[in-house]
Amino acid sequence: MPRREKETGSSVEELTEKQAKAEHARLEAEIASHDRRYYQEDAPSVSDAEYDRLRQRYGAIEARFPQLRTLESLTRRVGAAPAARFAKVRHAVPMLSLDNAFADQDVVDFVGRIRRFLRLAEDVPVAFSAEPKIDGLSLSLRYEGGELVTGATRGDGSEGEDVTANVKTLEDVPKRLKGKGVPAICDVRGEVYMTKHAFFELNRKQAEAGKQLYVNPRNTAAGSLRQLDPSITASRPLGFFAYGWGEMSEMPADTQSGMIKWFEQCGFKTNPLTKVCRSVEELIVFHHEIETQRSHLDYDIDGVVYKADRLDWQERLGFVSRSPRWAIAHKFPAERAVTMLKDIEIQVGRTGALTPVAKLDPVTVGGVVVQNATLHNEEEIKRLDVRVGDTVTIQRAGDVIPQVLGVVADKRPRGSMPYQFPKTCPCPLHTDVVREIIAGGEEGARARCTGEFACPYQILGHLQHFVSRRAFDIDGLGEKQLEFFHEQGWLNEPAEIFTLQERNGKLKLKGVDKKVRLEEVEGYGETSVRNLFNAIEARREISLERFIYALGIRHIGETTAVALARGYGNWDAFYSACLKVAKGDDETVAEMDALDQIGDTVIESLRDYFAEAQNRRRIERLAAQVRILDAEKPRADSAVAGKTVVFTGTLEKMTRDEAKASAERLGAKVSGSVSKKTDYVVAGPGAGSKLAEARKLGVAILTEDEWAKLIR
Ligand code: NAD
Repeated sequence: MPRREKETGSSVEELTEKQAKAEHARLEAEIASHDRRYYQEDAPSVSDAEYDRLRQRYGAIEARFPQLRTLESLTRRVGAAPAARFAKVRHAVPMLSLDNAFADQDVVDFVGRIRRFLRLAEDVPVAFSAEPKIDGLSLSLRYEGGELVTGATRGDGSEGEDVTANVKTLEDVPKRLKGKGVPAICDVRGEVYMTKHAFFELNRKQAEAGKQLYVNPRNTAAGSLRQLDPSITASRPLGFFAYGWGEMSEMPADTQSGMIKWFEQCGFKTNPLTKVCRSVEELIVFHHEIETQRSHLDYDIDGVVYKADRLDWQERLGFVSRSPRWAIAHKFPAERAVTMLKDIEIQVGRTGALTPVAKLDPVTVGGVVVQNATLHNEEEIKRLDVRVGDTVTIQRAGDVIPQVLGVVADKRPRGSMPYQFPKTCPCPLHTDVVREIIAGGEEGARARCTGEFACPYQILGHLQHFVSRRAFDIDGLGEKQLEFFHEQGWLNEPAEIFTLQERNGKLKLKGVDKKVRLEEVEGYGETSVRNLFNAIEARREISLERFIYALGIRHIGETTAVALARGYGNWDAFYSACLKVAKGDDETVAEMDALDQIGDTVIESLRDYFAEAQNRRRIERLAAQVRILDAEKPRADSAVAGKTVVFTGTLEKMTRDEAKASAERLGAKVSGSVSKKTDYVVAGPGAGSKLAEARKLGVAILTEDEWAKLIR
C-alpha cells in the first residue's frame, strides 16, 4: 500500500501533475522560510524531524515529476543566503551539504555505488574515514601565507557571511598555522560548536537574570558566532573541530585521514573519535558505538559521516548537485537517542499520582535538550526492566513528553539490581504509597500518595477542588488566587479559607517586611476583598453531601457523596463510621457495604484517607469552622420514592443534573442504564438505545412533562 503522507493526506504516487506542481511550490516556500529561520536567524520554528519530512516529500515529488526540478530547486541548493547584516565572502570552492543515510541498507547502497562508479574489483578494499557528525555550524577559514585572513559561514554554499573578527576570538582557531612548508593558500573547514557544559552554564546565568533560556547548543553556537559585536562571541565558549578543506594551493596529504593528521600538526583540534574503517560492517559498528557514546560526549552530534579515504578517489567521484558522492551522513533517528539513566526520581502530581521519571545524561533529541523522560508507572519499569546505570533508548516525538523505549542490554553495568519502587512517598510526609483501585476493586498500575491535603504537592489541586462549583462553590477563589495565597503561605488547608478574614491585616507578604491587609495587595481592592469574604461567609453553612464531596477523596464523586450522606444522615455519624473503617472494624465495613451504591472501591478509598492522621486533623479543623447540615431525608411519601429512573435523550426544561438531584430528593434512585429493575425511563428528543431497551423490557416510558406531572 502506498505510504500516506501527513502533509496532504495523499501519497506522492497518487498525485496528478497539477496537484504535484501546486504542492511542490507550496513546500518550496515553506522549506525556504524554515531555512531562513534556521540558518539566518538561528531560531527554527519546527523540529528537525518535521523539517526533514517536508524535504523528503519535496524530493519525492521531484523524483516522480522530474520536470519540476528546475535550476532553482531546493534539491540543488544548500543552506540560505547570507544575512544582509554581514559582509559577504565568496567561497573559492563551494561549501556543500551531505547526502543522508538512515538505515544500515542505505550505507550498503552507498558503498555499492562507490564501487560501481570506480569500477572496483570485489577484492579491492575501500577505506573510509568515519567521523562523528558534529551538530554545530560549518565554518571556512582562509589562511594566506599561513596567516588567518578570513572566517566565513557556509551561507548558501557559494557565498557566506564574513565573521572574521568573531572567529579571531575563538581559542581553537589558530591565527597562524604551525609547522614548516604550509601551503600558500589553505581553506580549512570544520564545525563550530558549543559544549553542553558551556550551554548549561549559559542557561543557568540566563535563568538567574530572569532571561529566556536557549533551546539547544547548535542554535546557540550559531547565534553566538553570527554576532555583529565580536565581544559577544568572545564571551561565549565556542569550540572548533577541523575536518575538511576548500581551496588548497598544494595538498599536504593524499588521504582524508592524512589531512586530519595534518590539521592537527597545524594547531587545530580534530575529533578524537575519528577512525578509519575498511568495510560496511566496520562502518555500521562504528555508528552503533558512537550512538551509545553520544550522551557522554560534551558536544552534540547528530550522526556520523563516512568519507572515502583516498583523495584521488574523492576527486574521481566528484559531486551530485548539493553533496559529494564520496561521503554520506549516517544520521541518528531524529526523534530517538541513546543515553544513560542516572537515576529514577519519583514525582508527585497534583492529584497525588506518583510518576517515576528517568533522570538522563542530557542529549539533544528533535532539537531539544532532553534530561528527563517519563517511565509512566511501576509496571512500565518492570516491563522494561530498566535499572539505574542502564543505557537506554529514549524518544521525543513532536511535543509529546520524552519517554524511555527500552534498555540496550549489552551495556548494562555488572551487578546492577532491579529497581525497587518506594513504599513511602517522597513528599515531606513520607506517607504510605497505595495502589490506585480500578473498576472491579482491582489494583491499578498507578501508585498514589495518601497525603492528600497534607501533601505539599497535592494541596493546590485539592484546594481547587474544594472551592469548585459543585463543592464549596466559593466565588473569587480561582486557580490564580489560590496559587497566590498558597505561595504566600496564607492558605495551606481548607480550614484556613474560613480564617482568612480574621487574619487579614496580619498577612505576611513575601519579600515585604510588614504585615498587610489583602486590600493593599496589587490586584485587590476594597470591593473585591469584601466580595471574597462575603462569598466565603455564605458557605459557612454547607450540606453534608457537598462537604463529603469537597474533601476530594478518591472515587467519591457527587453521587457517592449523596449516597453516603443519605446513608449516615449527619456528619458525626459519617465521620465516626469512617474512623472505624480506617481501623478495620469489620462490622462498620459491612454496614457501609450494605448502603446503596457503596462498594469495595469506595470503602478502600475512605479507609486509606482516614487512616492518615494528617488528613483527620485537617478535616477536624475544617469541621470546626463550618456548620454541616444534616442530610435531607428522602421523601418517602412521594410518588417516585424507592423507584429507579433512567433519564435519556435531551431534557428541555431542566439540566440532567437538576433532574437527577430532584429525583434523588424525592427518594428515587437514578441509574445510567436500563434493566428489568428500572421503573421509569424519562426520554427526551434524541433518545436512542436506552429507549429501545426500555421498549423491549416493557419499562414505563415518560416524556419530560409526564415526569414533571408525576413528581409535582
Ligand atoms: P546536514 O547538517 O545534515 O549535513 C551537512 C553538514 O554537516 C555540513 O555542512 C557540516 O556543517 C556538518 N558536519 C558536521 N560534522 C561533519 C564532518 N565530520 N564532516 C563533514 N561535515 C560535517 O546538512 P545541512 O544541509 O547543513 O542541514 C540540513 C539539516 O539541518 C536538516 O536535516 C535539519 O536537521 C536541519 N535543519 C533544520 C531546520 C528546521 O527548521 N528545524 C531548517 C533547516 C535545516
